[in-house]
Amino acid sequence: MNSIHTGVSRRSFMRILGAASAAATAFPAFGAVQQAAGAPAQTQGRRGLGGGDMGEMRHLSADTVIISSNENPLGPAQSALSAISTTAPMGGRYHQEETMKTVAVFNDLFGLKKGYLALTPGSGGPLDLALMSNIGPDKPLVYGDPSYEQGPRAADTMKAPKFPVPLTATYAHDVKAMLKAHPSPGAYYIVNPNNPTGTMTPKEDIVWLLNNKPAGSVVIVDEAYHHFSNDESVIDLVAQDKDIIVLRTFSKIYGMAGLRAGVAVARPDLLAKFNTVAPPARSLASISITSAAAARASLEDKQLVPLRRKINADVRSETLEFLEKHGYKTVPGSQANMFMVDVKRPGRDFQQAMLKENVAIGRTWAAMPNYVRVTVGTKDEMQKFQTAFVKCMDTPPGTVNGAAYLHLPEFHVPSELYRG
Ligand code: PLP
Repeated sequence: MNSIHTGVSRRSFMRILGAASAAATAFPAFGAVQQAAGAPAQTQGRRGLGGGDMGEMRHLSADTVIISSNENPLGPAQSALSAISTTAPMGGRYHQEETMKTVAVFNDLFGLKKGYLALTPGSGGPLDLALMSNIGPDKPLVYGDPSYEQGPRAADTMKAPKFPVPLTATYAHDVKAMLKAHPSPGAYYIVNPNNPTGTMTPKEDIVWLLNNKPAGSVVIVDEAYHHFSNDESVIDLVAQDKDIIVLRTFSKIYGMAGLRAGVAVARPDLLAKFNTVAPPARSLASISITSAAAARASLEDKQLVPLRRKINADVRSETLEFLEKHGYKTVPGSQANMFMVDVKRPGRDFQQAMLKENVAIGRTWAAMPNYVRVTVGTKDEMQKFQTAFVKCMDTPPGTVNGAAYLHLPEFHVPSELYRG
């Protein structure tokens, strides 16, 4: 098995040893919190340092509701925690068997041939490599607007021209306009469901783009939030050897953001191209055995996705109904664990006002400056959100004093590339 299959060479394993051991170290804390609460581990939230979609840049008070980074308040499944405790004692050795077993389970689930999958610590790192290996000064990036900022950030790194294309009236990626944006881009980046709107781009649109795009360009589909939706994945198009790279993560529905596991799925030649990205940006790091085992247990836990999809959809509907009933405008059609709401003032100011009420909500996007993104938390958290939201909306803009400043960078830094 080459380094693409396992996502690791011994040298690169050594490089990311810090990240791997952090995941392993996190294990006792997860277990302890869960035991103490007798309930899902992550309801306790995160109070430490981080950045953007990977956490706030300041310490939050213990009772702050954290619905800012599209994390899953339920944390890892019990099946995943058990798998971690079984494998952690083996952590003294460079086991690759766990990784290979998890790759095999994923391959079986999606009918993929050997060599079409890289298992990585989270999907942010491979997403960068998927983007960076296909764009450059003469190979532009075409992407939706508003959408996840990692696309344009990678374009900046690679000095690739950027072609943002507004979403359609239903907040889907406008594939026809994306095709017209440039005659020969290096890549089209589609986030489905989209971050920040949570809205879907129909699979037939992605198929249409693949069938009509110029030769030599790739379609990169980021399915980080896919499990929350009822739509079909596009992973089958990889199995058909199309020019497509699909990213998936265990950070969202599987509640493993801190444990770090994700996959890049593509033809072997497209995965091999990841190695053409120059260091230090290149870092397809290896995954810890505990994370590999937790990811596999999550995949094999057949109740997990349907159950969590329903929990998320129920809480999201209740929250959106509340907002609509009170006359607030939201972006319709979210099928993810987030939604956008119009706060009728600069979103950043509103974010600070909410923080003063101990509710950390998400950031805003230049294309929709008066909207903020809100992550769907637990029922209880969303009730606190509702109370704070109404209070802040009832307070005239510009009157918030003394709110602790929450510094949210425009986009997150994948931990694999983090130089903190
Ligand atoms: N893609 C999208 C659309 C995201 O929102 C995120 C994180 O929030 C990622 C990728 C990266 O997530 P991770 O590196 O935790 O897998």
